[in-house]
Amino acid sequence: MSSTRSNIKCAACKKRIPDHEPDLVLQDLEAKPGGARRRPRYFHTRCGDAAYAAYAAYVAASEKPGVYLLTVRHVEEMAN
Ligand SMILES: [Zn+2]
Repeated sequence: MSSTRSNIKCAACKKRIPDHEPDLVLQDLEAKPGGARRRPRYFHTRCGDAAYAAYAAYVAASEKPGVYLLTVRHVEEMAN
């Protein structure tokens, strides 16, 4: 109950991404007409090739490529 992101799995290799590892986040910023946005997909940084491939697939399938965002989330250092 202490972790806020305890069960994130890599969309490429299906293995869990540990809290202490940075990860790649592929987000769909486009709200679909009938419902919710696609949920973000997470990747290991070492699975970056798969992340970029997924991003490219999203862009290729969309008429609005700008709505997809692939970002690297770094592990935040303990502030206190
Ligand atoms: Zn992975």
